Amino acid sequence: MPDCLFCKIIAGQIPSAKVYEDEFVYAFRDINPQAKTHVLIVPKAHIASCADINGENSSVVAHIFEVIPKIAECEGLKNGFRVITNCGPDACQSVKHLHFHILGGEQMSERMA
Ligand code: 5GP
Ligand code: ZN
Repeated sequence: MPDCLFCKIIAGQIPSAKVYEDEFVYAFRDINPQAKTHVLIVPKAHIASCADINGENSSVVAHIFEVIPKIAECEGLKNGFRVITNCGPDACQSVKHLHFHILGGEQMSERMA
């Protein structure tokens, strides 16, 4: 296993507030929420970032985007939500394990950057 925070969270070595889990993905509450609802969804297999998605591993990304609406519904995000992935230094990616932020539960800014 790479020395990776989210791999450790997936393995249960670091505690997290689980929102959803299946064979392929794990979702949990962000420790420093940027909106009323802030959930992170990650593939269980280590992929470093969006820049590392390819034909070999993209099926898990499709799966993530099937799970996101289920999480949004469970979280009561009836009025919409935002999905973000930060990729690399310019986007301030701080954890080098692909993750999608699901943000909602309140009106968010029109600005995205
Ligand atoms: P990034 O900046 O890489 O797009 O997002 C990383 C996210 O992981 C941040 O929003 C940060 O708050 C969250 N995070 C960092 N460490 C932990 C942790 O130990 N537990 C949880 N639940 N979230 C974390
Ligand atoms: Zn990892």
